[in-house]
Amino acid sequence: MDENKPRSPTDRRVMVIGAGVAGSAAASALVDLGASVVLVERSRSLGASESIHGNRNVLVLAGTEVIWAERDGKFRMEVEAVQDGCRQRAVHEVDAVILATGLVPIDASLIPEFGLGRHADVISSQQMEQMLRSAGGIRRPSDGGPVSTAVFVQCVGSRVEKRGVPYCSAVCCAVAIDCAIKIKERDPGIGVYILYIDIRTAGKGQEAMYKRARQLDVKFIRGQPALVSKMPHQDRLLVCGENTLLRELYEIPADLVVLSLGLREDPENLDLFRGLGVELDREGLIESAPSALSVMTSAKGVFVAGSASAPMCADEAAAMGVQAAHAASVYLASR
Ligand SMILES: Cc1cc2nc3c(=O)[nH]c(=O)nc-3n(C[C@H](O)[C@H](O)[C@H](O)COP(=O)(O)OP(=O)(O)OC[C@H]3O[C@@H](n4cnc5c(N)ncnc54)[C@H](O)[C@@H]3O)c2cc1C
Repeated sequence: MDENKPRSPTDRRVMVIGAGVAGSAAASALVDLGASVVLVERSRSLGASESIHGNRNVLVLAGTEVIWAERDGKFRMEVEAVQDGCRQRAVHEVDAVILATGLVPIDASLIPEFGLGRHADVISSQQMEQMLRSAGGIRRPSDGGPVSTAVFVQCVGSRVEKRGVPYCSAVCCAVAIDCAIKIKERDPGIGVYILYIDIRTAGKGQEAMYKRARQLDVKFIRGQPALVSKMPHQDRLLVCGENTLLRELYEIPADLVVLSLGLREDPENLDLFRGLGVELDREGLIESAPSALSVMTSAKGVFVAGSASAPMCADEAAAMGVQAAHAASVYLASR
């Protein structure tokens, strides 16, 4: 390119990694700001990003993973797509990168006493949400039988120093309460318990949800269980622990136990972050400047958006995507 010729905005390419709400919002905003975008999404479905599919300034790579990156003036980003069983690799050169890679649940085998992966009727909150969306209704995954008691266990592998992550997952209390309300609204006869350390419902409308759940007779018990086990000679589960408010032990026979698992950076992305020069903080999250929604990482030209920076709700993730697009645009203009 002729160095003296002024660059048009679309000469500058930004790679957005992840097409969740944050990545989709970032990609749309970048297009509005005149940049050209390479949007890479590991899964085949694009969700919120469908609307920018077909825009001539956006190259969408679905079913493709960014596996490695290095910097040599520009960023050289290596991607891998799996098509018809064949792996195809390619390298894209870009001027800036937005990490919108989200978080993944912690490995539940770290906390074997809650039985996820061992008892079919112990599920994650993601699986509970899927069950509520499905036509099949609220059934025991083990045998399709009816559920008379469901128990939600909060902070599984979050807010801990060992066997998980030290920070709060921010959305799990509201998610559990929302699921509990939906269960009660469908079948008031199902007993629903939420076992918590603290209930955190600071988001808009969440306190009202908490009140509604109590009106619907969802039982809140402070104190995580010590053990979830199979009841002797029965198909049901037994959830045992201590109610730390009343200082008494509880034993709850249950058909379904739902774990709110802590969220962490995807271990598969750690090499990629390293290649980009992006550091993690003491809690294992992408290090960013110490303001609540800061999009600046420790590496120049690399920005972070959405829950990749810390757990947050979808609206915040989308807002952060737009903020990251603006920061990337200012960065490109200054070069
Ligand atoms: C169980 C549960 C229920 C929730 N319910 C709600 C709710 O009701 N309301 C609400 O507001 N929020 C809810 N949240 C929070 C909400 O899911 C997040 O705020 C939102 O998903 C964050 O969006 P994001 O774009 O940052 O990350 P994500 O939605 O996680 O998107 C990240 C994307 O990046 C892709 N990716 C990662 N690494 C790579 C790579 N190397 N290459 C290519 N692609 C990659 C992933 O495939 C993924 O699609 C819930 C969270 C959980 C865990």
